[in-house]
Amino acid sequence: MPNIRDYLGNEYKVLECLGCEIAKKGIIAPGGVVYESDALIMSGDPEIPIGGFLVINSKRHINSLTEMTKEERAELIELVVKSIKVIKELGLATRVTVLQEERSQHFHVWIFPMQDWMKSKYGEGLAHIREICEDVRENTDAAGRHKVVEAVEEIKKYFSESEKHDKI
Ligand SMILES: [Zn+2]
Repeated sequence: MPNIRDYLGNEYKVLECLGCEIAKKGIIAPGGVVYESDALIMSGDPEIPIGGFLVINSKRHINSLTEMTKEERAELIELVVKSIKVIKELGLATRVTVLQEERSQHFHVWIFPMQDWMKSKYGEGLAHIREICEDVRENTDAAGRHKVVEAVEEIKKYFSESEKHDKI
């Protein structure tokens, strides 16, 4: 596994599995952990600076929804729904794409905010997500990266406040 360098320039060693490193907080994406339980952990993406882009990782080294308990699946879908809501409420995107690939060795879900500039530059749909990710990795300046960290912090605040008031 190659080392990874997050979009703020922090380098991390990945010994075996990126998902496991994230699960045990050996790697913490810029902005920090948004949500954590015994089964799941969610933060921004370490390498791709897009405001509102969230990644949910399983704590266990599994690669399929079918390996989760019923309770874990229920928790996951609530977390997905809550994430979509917060992205929209904070005005980070009007549409959200949710992706999970069993191809990956460690279970994770992408909560991908489809922003207006992406639609106008690349068109809508799954086909362009890789290109969009490459684009932002190469072309986001320091101020833009800082804004992404701020978006993660806003999402964190929303999550902790909604937990207090129990409004999912
Ligand atoms: Zn793993």
